[in-house]
Amino acid sequence: MLKLNKLVEKRDAEGILEYAKEFHGHICPYLALGIRASLIAMEELGVGRLDYSGSVDESILAIVETNSCFTDGVQVATGCTLGNNSLIYVDTGKTALTLVKRETWEGVRVYADSEKLRELYPPRATKLFNKVVKERRGTPEERKELWRYWEEIAKEFLHLPKDYFKIERVKVPPIEQAPIFESIRCSKCGELVMAPKVVYINEKPYCRACAGEEIPAIIGRGITSWRCSK
Ligand SMILES: [Zn+2]
Ligand SMILES: [Zn+2]
Repeated sequence: MLKLNKLVEKRDAEGILEYAKEFHGHICPYLALGIRASLIAMEELGVGRLDYSGSVDESILAIVETNSCFTDGVQVATGCTLGNNSLIYVDTGKTALTLVKRETWEGVRVYADSEKLRELYPPRATKLFNKVVKERRGTPEERKELWRYWEEIAKEFLHLPKDYFKIERVKVPPIEQAPIFESIRCSKCGELVMAPKVVYINEKPYCRACAGEEIPAIIGRGITSWRCSK
């Protein structure tokens, strides 16, 4: 298997999808769409996949607006991940990727319109999707049939013509590099907490969970408040 950076350099979308399948767990249309959008954005911006030093310096950032399968395609193709602080999640709920150079804050935003893409789905696939995924029912045979359609549509999405997307040059307001904070120990659970997340009650430090605060969390519906049962 070729290295991912090489596959991106050669614009081998099928090869990238193989890696993405390992990472994401399955092949689906929006995983492929994330790869396609990334390849377009990298080409338009004239950059490659994050390399060793780029991933340390956060030289390129990927700003995603959805936490769907699309975003896993973006992480695999661009190398910008949640963990290397090069993936920024903006909670607008749109299928869009903005790739931006930290050097100049010039970026390219690639937006995909789900309604426009829907016309590419065979009617049978839409029917199966509603039954198996939306309503969470469907026989094992129907599930298998859906996955077959999914792979088929995904392979088509890997090579979607650019005019299926809205592609625009954007200037992105500068985003700070991930700061390193000191850690403070919670006086209830004894765990270490990143300083800005510490809550003081009667001058004693607590983690947000022990303080009983609502904590912003990214769940299926996006960023929302969540109460941890610690
Ligand atoms: Zn998926
Ligand atoms: Zn605690």
